[in-house]
Amino acid sequence: MAQVEMSGKDLRGRVQALLKEAHPDQVDQFTFRGKQWDHGLAMVHFPEGLGGLGLNPKMQGIVNDEIRKNAKTFYEDLNINPIGIGMGAPVVLTYGTEEMKKTLIKRIFTGEDIWCQLFSEPSAGSDVAGLSSRAVRDGDDWVVNGQKVWTTLAHVSKWGMLVSRTDPDVPKHKGMSYFLLDMEAPGVDVRPLYQITGEAEFNEVFLNDVRIPNERMLGAEGDGWKVAITTLMNERTALGGGSGRKGGGPIGTLMNLWKENSSKHSNASKAVLRDHITQLYIKSELLRFTSQRARAAAKSGNPGPEGSVGKLAQAELYKKVWECGLDVIGSDSLIYEPGYELKRPEAAEKHTPLTYAKYQFLRSRANSIEGGTSEIMRNILGERVLGLPGEPRVDKDIAWKDVPRG
Ligand SMILES: Cc1cc2nc3c(=O)[nH]c(=O)nc-3n(C[C@H](O)[C@H](O)[C@H](O)COP(=O)(O)OP(=O)(O)OC[C@H]3O[C@@H](n4cnc5c(N)ncnc54)[C@H](O)[C@@H]3O)c2cc1C
Repeated sequence: MAQVEMSGKDLRGRVQALLKEAHPDQVDQFTFRGKQWDHGLAMVHFPEGLGGLGLNPKMQGIVNDEIRKNAKTFYEDLNINPIGIGMGAPVVLTYGTEEMKKTLIKRIFTGEDIWCQLFSEPSAGSDVAGLSSRAVRDGDDWVVNGQKVWTTLAHVSKWGMLVSRTDPDVPKHKGMSYFLLDMEAPGVDVRPLYQITGEAEFNEVFLNDVRIPNERMLGAEGDGWKVAITTLMNERTALGGGSGRKGGGPIGTLMNLWKENSSKHSNASKAVLRDHITQLYIKSELLRFTSQRARAAAKSGNPGPEGSVGKLAQAELYKKVWECGLDVIGSDSLIYEPGYELKRPEAAEKHTPLTYAKYQFLRSRANSIEGGTSEIMRNILGERVLGLPGEPRVDKDIAWKDVPRG
């Protein structure tokens, strides 16, 4: 898709036209985001008619800043439909039929249809190509059996991106296919898994004779790995995008915490913490610039392996920011607020900076696991960006069914 040029002034003018027609402080999420979509301001790098204007992806920042400047309500994509917007939409755009693009992508952006990603299995996480769930052709349908795990938001999802084995007689990367699974189909059994935060944002999903029509396959039969890679590259870029705003996101919360709590600390402790927060601020800014550079370099199409830079840097940085948050809070951080009950998050929780820091300290442990671990990010960067020798992969050319497994 050829990239369209537009000045920042013209783009801001388009946002003003949108705000005249629908203002986020006055209409609900679905109405506002629906209109944002119609104006091509949802994902500006998407084609015209599909929520975008064919612009460089970095121009989305101008749209978001202009909305933030003119409204109290701002809907963060990551809170609305992280997997749908970050991964589902680009995958449908790349591999979906025209009908799928028209019917699915808008509802992803508005948040009417939540999406989930059914890749990981109990014995296939980092090595997702080793997965064992099976899809067998039966007339116009595929019949799927198996178990998925760590499926974020499966309990509220309408659609799932499912990778399953369709041919066990070829090497692992060649025998998988990619499906859009209706999460309300008979045989889909979603069970919550509880996390250290006390919430169950992810699930195990059992698939028992689930029928998927053949037309819901994305890519050709056996192309599952190729489509999965597109999904994962987009996931890493979405997860490693930084806060987008100077001093925003976790570092902003940390600085607010510092303002509220610094008087509790001795002079010596103040000096150490101030220095530590300054270092973290510098690193957060570097992450923001790196993400901006990556966005500016992305012309159109899907991100490449360099998306792993932001994912790795962000995962490791955020863990340190929240650790520092607990140091700033001091001994109060040892107490988790009453209400540590097991629950399923269906909407963004309301927190004070103090409770948010404690919650995020626990939640950020997962940052270096979800979307691929930091070790796997380093492997990708070493092999695919720096061109270092690859890991030994002894099962690469063996039929999947002949690979010994426990
Ligand atoms: C909060 C959260 C949400 C998630 N959401 C989803 C989701 O929505 N959908 C989904 O499909 N999955 C999801 N996952 C699963 C996630 O993708 C996997 O947990 C992750 O890929 C790691 O796989 P694993 O847990 O099987 O660990 P393993 O692959 O068993 O890894 C165990 C350890 O070995 C290391 N390791 C493994 N292979 C190598 C290697 N080749 N070189 C060096 N070190 C290696 C890993 O880095 C790790 O430290 C989620 C996970 C979390 C924590």
